Amino acid sequence: MNTIAHTASYLANHDNFIIIPHRSPDGDCLGSSSALLLALRSLGKNARIALPTPATQRLSFIWDESYEWGDFEPEVAVAVDVADTYMMLGLYDEIFAKAKSTVCIDHHATNPAFADVNCIDATAAAAGEIVSEVIEAMGVTLTRDIAERLYVAIADDTGGFQYSNTTDRTHRIASKLFKSGIDSAGIMKALFATHTKAELELLKFVTARMEYHFGGKVCLSWVDSEALSASGAEMPNADAWIGLTRSGEGVEVGLMFKLISDEEIRVSLRSNNYVDVSAVAKKFGGGGHVRAAGVTFSESFESAKAKLLAEPEKLV
Ligand code: 5GP
Ligand code: MN
Repeated sequence: MNTIAHTASYLANHDNFIIIPHRSPDGDCLGSSSALLLALRSLGKNARIALPTPATQRLSFIWDESYEWGDFEPEVAVAVDVADTYMMLGLYDEIFAKAKSTVCIDHHATNPAFADVNCIDATAAAAGEIVSEVIEAMGVTLTRDIAERLYVAIADDTGGFQYSNTTDRTHRIASKLFKSGIDSAGIMKALFATHTKAELELLKFVTARMEYHFGGKVCLSWVDSEALSASGAEMPNADAWIGLTRSGEGVEVGLMFKLISDEEIRVSLRSNNYVDVSAVAKKFGGGGHVRAAGVTFSESFESAKAKLLAEPEKLV
Protein backbone atom coordinates (compact mmCIF):
# COMPACT_ATOMS: atom_id res chain seq x y z
CA MET A 1 0.00 0.00 0.00
CA ASN A 2 1.31 3.47 -0.84
CA THR A 3 1.43 6.40 1.55
CA ILE A 4 -0.13 9.86 1.27
CA ALA A 5 3.36 11.34 0.76
CA HIS A 6 4.23 8.89 -2.03
CA THR A 7 0.89 9.45 -3.78
CA ALA A 8 1.25 13.23 -3.51
CA SER A 9 4.73 13.22 -5.03
CA TYR A 10 3.64 10.77 -7.73
CA LEU A 11 0.81 13.11 -8.75
CA ALA A 12 3.11 16.14 -8.50
CA ASN A 13 5.56 14.48 -10.91
CA HIS A 14 3.00 13.93 -13.69
CA ASP A 15 1.01 16.33 -15.83
CA ASN A 16 -2.03 14.83 -17.56
CA PHE A 17 -4.74 13.21 -15.48
CA ILE A 18 -8.06 11.58 -16.03
CA ILE A 19 -9.97 11.08 -12.79
CA ILE A 20 -12.65 8.36 -12.61
CA PRO A 21 -15.26 8.17 -9.82
CA HIS A 22 -17.56 5.15 -9.33
CA ARG A 23 -20.85 4.60 -11.19
CA SER A 24 -23.89 6.43 -9.76
CA PRO A 25 -21.50 9.01 -8.30
CA ASP A 26 -22.25 10.09 -4.73
CA GLY A 27 -21.04 13.16 -2.85
CA ASP A 28 -17.83 11.48 -1.73
CA CYS A 29 -16.55 10.39 -5.12
CA LEU A 30 -17.79 13.49 -6.96
CA GLY A 31 -16.57 15.90 -4.26
CA SER A 32 -13.19 14.16 -3.95
CA SER A 33 -12.72 13.91 -7.71
CA SER A 34 -13.59 17.55 -8.39
CA ALA A 35 -11.43 18.76 -5.48
CA LEU A 36 -8.51 16.73 -6.81
CA LEU A 37 -9.08 18.12 -10.30
CA LEU A 38 -9.02 21.72 -9.02
CA ALA A 39 -5.91 21.00 -6.93
CA LEU A 40 -4.05 19.50 -9.90
CA ARG A 41 -5.11 22.38 -12.15
CA SER A 42 -3.85 24.87 -9.55
CA LEU A 43 -0.43 23.26 -10.02
CA GLY A 44 -0.64 23.91 -13.77
CA LYS A 45 -1.60 20.37 -14.78
CA ASN A 46 -4.29 19.06 -17.13
CA ALA A 47 -7.05 17.20 -15.35
CA ARG A 48 -10.48 15.97 -16.42
CA ILE A 49 -13.10 13.71 -14.92
CA ALA A 50 -14.77 10.84 -16.78
CA LEU A 51 -18.09 9.80 -15.21
CA PRO A 52 -19.25 6.17 -15.64
CA THR A 53 -22.85 7.43 -15.23
CA PRO A 54 -24.05 11.06 -15.04
CA ALA A 55 -24.09 13.04 -11.81
CA THR A 56 -27.50 13.72 -10.26
CA GLN A 57 -29.09 17.14 -9.88
CA ARG A 58 -28.48 16.95 -6.12
CA LEU A 59 -24.73 17.31 -6.72
CA SER A 60 -24.83 19.74 -9.64
CA PHE A 61 -23.54 22.56 -7.39
CA ILE A 62 -20.10 20.93 -7.28
CA TRP A 63 -19.99 20.05 -10.98
CA ASP A 64 -18.81 22.15 -13.92
CA GLU A 65 -18.83 21.38 -17.63
CA SER A 66 -15.13 22.21 -17.81
CA TYR A 67 -14.39 19.08 -15.73
CA GLU A 68 -15.80 16.75 -18.39
CA TRP A 69 -13.46 14.44 -20.19
CA GLY A 70 -12.68 15.98 -23.57
CA ASP A 71 -10.07 15.58 -26.12
CA PHE A 72 -6.76 14.96 -24.50
CA GLU A 73 -4.53 11.97 -23.97
CA PRO A 74 -4.34 11.17 -20.30
CA GLU A 75 -1.06 9.95 -18.94
CA VAL A 76 -2.27 8.90 -15.50
CA ALA A 77 -5.73 7.54 -14.65
CA VAL A 78 -6.82 8.12 -11.06
CA ALA A 79 -9.73 6.08 -9.65
CA VAL A 80 -11.30 7.88 -6.69
CA ASP A 81 -13.62 6.12 -4.19
CA VAL A 82 -13.79 3.16 -6.58
CA ALA A 83 -14.04 -0.08 -4.58
CA ASP A 84 -13.29 -2.33 -7.54
CA THR A 85 -12.58 -2.06 -11.28
CA TYR A 86 -16.15 -2.97 -12.28
CA MET A 87 -17.45 0.10 -10.42
CA MET A 88 -16.02 2.16 -13.35
CA LEU A 89 -18.23 0.20 -15.80
CA GLY A 90 -16.97 0.54 -19.42
CA LEU A 91 -14.48 3.29 -18.47
CA TYR A 92 -12.23 0.61 -17.03
CA ASP A 93 -11.48 -0.85 -20.49
CA GLU A 94 -11.89 2.44 -22.33
CA ILE A 95 -9.58 4.56 -20.17
CA PHE A 96 -8.17 3.00 -17.01
CA ALA A 97 -6.66 -0.14 -18.50
CA LYS A 98 -5.12 1.88 -21.35
CA ALA A 99 -3.49 4.63 -19.26
CA LYS A 100 0.32 4.73 -18.98
CA SER A 101 0.02 4.46 -15.23
CA THR A 102 -2.77 4.26 -12.69
CA VAL A 103 -3.54 5.50 -9.19
CA CYS A 104 -6.31 4.41 -6.83
CA ILE A 105 -7.37 6.61 -3.90
CA ASP A 106 -9.98 4.77 -1.86
CA HIS A 107 -11.34 3.85 1.56
CA HIS A 108 -13.08 0.50 0.97
CA ALA A 109 -11.58 -2.38 2.97
CA THR A 110 -12.63 -4.76 0.17
CA ASN A 111 -10.56 -2.86 -2.45
CA PRO A 112 -8.22 -5.35 -4.19
CA ALA A 113 -5.55 -2.62 -4.83
CA PHE A 114 -5.96 -2.68 -8.62
CA ALA A 115 -3.72 0.28 -9.59
CA ASP A 116 0.04 0.91 -9.84
CA VAL A 117 -0.11 3.35 -6.93
CA ASN A 118 -2.66 2.32 -4.30
CA CYS A 119 -3.48 4.86 -1.62
CA ILE A 120 -6.14 2.92 0.24
CA ASP A 121 -7.06 3.58 3.85
CA ALA A 122 -10.13 1.82 5.19
CA THR A 123 -9.97 3.86 8.41
CA ALA A 124 -10.86 7.01 6.46
CA ALA A 125 -14.56 7.87 6.69
CA ALA A 126 -14.50 9.16 3.12
CA ALA A 127 -12.18 9.17 0.14
CA GLY A 128 -12.41 12.93 0.72
CA GLU A 129 -10.31 12.60 3.88
CA ILE A 130 -7.50 10.92 1.95
CA VAL A 131 -7.77 13.38 -0.94
CA SER A 132 -7.62 16.28 1.58
CA GLU A 133 -4.36 14.90 2.94
CA VAL A 134 -2.91 14.24 -0.52
CA ILE A 135 -3.78 17.79 -1.59
CA GLU A 136 -2.18 19.20 1.55
CA ALA A 137 0.95 17.10 0.97
CA MET A 138 1.18 18.52 -2.58
CA GLY A 139 1.32 22.01 -1.05
CA VAL A 140 -1.87 23.18 -2.76
CA THR A 141 -3.59 26.29 -1.35
CA LEU A 142 -7.01 25.30 -0.04
CA THR A 143 -9.36 27.60 -1.96
CA ARG A 144 -13.00 27.83 -1.00
CA ASP A 145 -13.99 25.85 -4.13
CA ILE A 146 -11.65 22.99 -3.23
CA ALA A 147 -12.65 23.05 0.44
CA GLU A 148 -16.39 22.97 -0.36
CA ARG A 149 -15.94 19.92 -2.55
CA LEU A 150 -13.96 18.10 0.11
CA TYR A 151 -16.59 19.04 2.67
CA VAL A 152 -19.35 17.63 0.44
CA ALA A 153 -17.30 14.43 0.15
CA ILE A 154 -16.81 14.00 3.88
CA ALA A 155 -20.27 15.18 4.91
CA ASP A 156 -21.97 12.83 2.44
CA ASP A 157 -20.13 9.65 3.47
CA THR A 158 -20.55 10.37 7.19
CA GLY A 159 -24.24 11.26 6.86
CA GLY A 160 -23.45 14.76 8.12
CA PHE A 161 -20.93 13.50 10.72
CA GLN A 162 -23.52 11.11 12.19
CA TYR A 163 -22.22 7.66 11.24
CA SER A 164 -19.78 5.56 13.24
CA ASN A 165 -17.06 6.08 10.60
CA THR A 166 -16.71 9.69 11.85
CA THR A 167 -13.48 10.18 13.82
CA ASP A 168 -11.32 12.91 15.28
CA ARG A 169 -9.47 12.90 11.95
CA THR A 170 -12.77 13.64 10.17
CA HIS A 171 -13.36 16.64 12.41
CA ARG A 172 -9.75 17.82 12.17
CA ILE A 173 -9.97 17.87 8.39
CA ALA A 174 -13.43 19.48 8.48
CA SER A 175 -12.02 22.18 10.76
CA LYS A 176 -9.34 23.03 8.18
CA LEU A 177 -12.01 23.16 5.47
CA PHE A 178 -14.06 25.57 7.59
CA LYS A 179 -11.13 27.96 7.66
CA SER A 180 -11.42 28.33 3.86
CA GLY A 181 -14.78 30.04 4.28
CA ILE A 182 -17.10 27.22 3.23
CA ASP A 183 -20.89 27.51 3.58
CA SER A 184 -21.35 24.52 5.83
CA ALA A 185 -25.04 25.12 6.59
CA GLY A 186 -25.79 25.60 2.90
CA ILE A 187 -24.01 22.37 2.00
CA MET A 188 -25.77 20.41 4.76
CA LYS A 189 -29.14 21.75 3.66
CA ALA A 190 -28.44 20.84 0.03
CA LEU A 191 -27.23 17.34 0.89
CA PHE A 192 -29.60 16.26 3.63
CA ALA A 193 -32.60 18.54 3.93
CA THR A 194 -33.64 19.28 0.36
CA HIS A 195 -35.82 16.89 -1.63
CA THR A 196 -37.69 17.22 -4.88
CA LYS A 197 -41.45 16.69 -4.66
CA ALA A 198 -41.00 13.48 -6.65
CA GLU A 199 -38.46 12.21 -4.12
CA LEU A 200 -40.92 12.92 -1.30
CA GLU A 201 -43.68 11.14 -3.24
CA LEU A 202 -41.34 8.18 -3.62
CA LEU A 203 -40.93 8.12 0.16
CA LYS A 204 -44.59 7.09 0.46
CA PHE A 205 -43.80 3.90 -1.46
CA VAL A 206 -40.62 3.25 0.49
CA THR A 207 -42.37 3.39 3.87
CA ALA A 208 -45.53 1.59 2.68
CA ARG A 209 -43.45 -1.30 1.38
CA MET A 210 -41.28 -1.77 4.46
CA GLU A 211 -41.08 -5.39 5.58
CA TYR A 212 -39.59 -6.63 8.81
CA HIS A 213 -37.83 -9.98 9.17
CA PHE A 214 -36.17 -11.97 11.94
CA GLY A 215 -38.10 -10.40 14.80
CA GLY A 216 -37.66 -6.87 13.46
CA LYS A 217 -33.86 -7.01 13.18
CA VAL A 218 -33.91 -6.72 9.39
CA CYS A 219 -36.01 -4.14 7.56
CA LEU A 220 -36.24 -3.99 3.80
CA SER A 221 -37.98 -1.89 1.21
CA TRP A 222 -37.97 -1.75 -2.57
CA VAL A 223 -38.32 0.66 -5.44
CA ASP A 224 -39.49 -0.47 -8.86
CA SER A 225 -40.64 1.20 -12.06
CA GLU A 226 -44.21 1.42 -10.76
CA ALA A 227 -43.10 3.47 -7.74
CA LEU A 228 -40.94 5.63 -9.99
CA SER A 229 -43.61 6.40 -12.54
CA ALA A 230 -46.28 7.01 -9.88
CA SER A 231 -44.02 9.41 -7.97
CA GLY A 232 -42.22 10.97 -10.94
CA ALA A 233 -38.90 10.06 -9.33
CA GLU A 234 -35.85 8.40 -10.86
CA MET A 235 -33.93 5.48 -9.43
CA PRO A 236 -31.12 7.58 -7.90
CA ASN A 237 -33.81 9.32 -5.79
CA ALA A 238 -34.18 6.03 -3.90
CA ASP A 239 -30.75 6.67 -2.41
CA ALA A 240 -32.20 9.48 -0.30
CA TRP A 241 -34.25 6.91 1.65
CA ILE A 242 -31.79 4.03 2.05
CA GLY A 243 -30.92 5.18 5.57
CA LEU A 244 -34.56 4.88 6.65
CA THR A 245 -34.40 1.10 6.27
CA ARG A 246 -32.07 0.90 9.26
CA SER A 247 -33.68 3.67 11.27
CA GLY A 248 -36.49 1.68 12.91
CA GLU A 249 -36.09 0.99 16.61
CA GLY A 250 -34.48 -2.42 17.11
CA VAL A 251 -33.44 -2.76 13.46
CA GLU A 252 -29.85 -3.86 12.88
CA VAL A 253 -29.79 -4.27 9.09
CA GLY A 254 -31.58 -2.20 6.46
CA LEU A 255 -31.87 -3.38 2.86
CA MET A 256 -33.05 -1.26 -0.05
CA PHE A 257 -33.77 -3.18 -3.25
CA LYS A 258 -33.61 -1.15 -6.45
CA LEU A 259 -35.33 -3.04 -9.24
CA ILE A 260 -33.42 -1.71 -12.24
CA SER A 261 -35.02 -4.29 -14.55
CA ASP A 262 -36.63 -7.75 -14.32
CA GLU A 263 -33.22 -9.28 -13.93
CA GLU A 264 -31.05 -6.55 -12.48
CA ILE A 265 -31.53 -5.85 -8.78
CA ARG A 266 -29.19 -3.49 -7.00
CA VAL A 267 -29.23 -3.79 -3.23
CA SER A 268 -27.94 -1.25 -0.72
CA LEU A 269 -27.12 -2.77 2.67
CA ARG A 270 -26.76 -0.75 5.88
CA SER A 271 -26.19 -1.86 9.47
CA ASN A 272 -26.20 -0.09 12.82
CA ASN A 273 -24.00 -1.81 15.35
CA TYR A 274 -22.55 -5.23 14.71
CA VAL A 275 -23.38 -6.84 11.34
CA ASP A 276 -20.62 -6.60 8.72
CA VAL A 277 -22.70 -5.91 5.62
CA SER A 278 -19.62 -5.73 3.38
CA ALA A 279 -19.02 -9.42 4.14
CA VAL A 280 -22.64 -10.20 3.22
CA ALA A 281 -22.36 -8.19 -0.02
CA LYS A 282 -19.01 -9.77 -0.86
CA LYS A 283 -20.51 -13.23 -0.65
CA PHE A 284 -22.71 -12.32 -3.64
CA GLY A 285 -20.02 -10.50 -5.62
CA GLY A 286 -20.46 -7.00 -4.16
CA GLY A 287 -18.58 -5.17 -1.43
CA GLY A 288 -18.24 -1.88 0.40
CA HIS A 289 -17.86 -0.91 4.04
CA VAL A 290 -18.74 -2.66 7.31
CA ARG A 291 -21.84 -0.46 7.83
CA ALA A 292 -22.66 0.39 4.18
CA ALA A 293 -22.29 -1.94 1.23
CA GLY A 294 -23.83 -2.80 -2.11
CA VAL A 295 -24.36 -5.73 -4.44
CA THR A 296 -26.01 -6.32 -7.79
CA PHE A 297 -27.99 -9.48 -8.58
CA SER A 298 -28.72 -10.62 -12.13
CA GLU A 299 -31.98 -12.31 -11.24
CA SER A 300 -35.52 -11.54 -10.06
CA PHE A 301 -36.38 -9.52 -6.96
CA GLU A 302 -37.88 -12.59 -5.27
CA SER A 303 -34.80 -14.65 -5.87
CA ALA A 304 -32.35 -11.92 -4.75
CA LYS A 305 -34.42 -11.32 -1.63
CA ALA A 306 -34.58 -15.04 -0.85
CA LYS A 307 -30.79 -15.33 -1.17
CA LEU A 308 -30.11 -12.40 1.13
CA LEU A 309 -32.58 -13.60 3.74
CA ALA A 310 -31.44 -17.23 3.53
CA GLU A 311 -28.70 -16.83 6.11
CA PRO A 312 -30.15 -15.03 9.11
CA GLU A 313 -27.01 -15.84 11.13
CA LYS A 314 -25.08 -13.41 8.89
CA LEU A 315 -27.73 -10.71 9.08
CA VAL A 316 -28.88 -10.59 12.70
P1 5GP B 1 -24.60 2.19 -2.02
O1 5GP B 1 -25.51 1.30 -1.28
O2 5GP B 1 -24.71 3.61 -1.54
O3 5GP B 1 -24.68 2.05 -3.50
O4 5GP B 1 -23.11 1.74 -1.67
C1 5GP B 1 -22.65 1.65 -0.35
C2 5GP B 1 -21.14 1.46 -0.36
O5 5GP B 1 -20.82 0.19 -0.95
C3 5GP B 1 -20.41 2.50 -1.20
O6 5GP B 1 -19.19 2.79 -0.56
C4 5GP B 1 -20.19 1.80 -2.52
O7 5GP B 1 -19.05 2.29 -3.18
C5 5GP B 1 -20.04 0.35 -2.12
N1 5GP B 1 -20.60 -0.54 -3.15
C6 5GP B 1 -21.83 -0.48 -3.71
N2 5GP B 1 -22.02 -1.47 -4.62
C7 5GP B 1 -20.85 -2.17 -4.64
C8 5GP B 1 -20.40 -3.31 -5.38
O8 5GP B 1 -21.11 -3.90 -6.21
N3 5GP B 1 -19.13 -3.73 -5.14
C9 5GP B 1 -18.31 -3.11 -4.24
N4 5GP B 1 -17.06 -3.59 -4.07
N5 5GP B 1 -18.71 -2.06 -3.51
C10 5GP B 1 -19.94 -1.58 -3.71
MN1 MN C 1 -16.80 6.90 -0.26
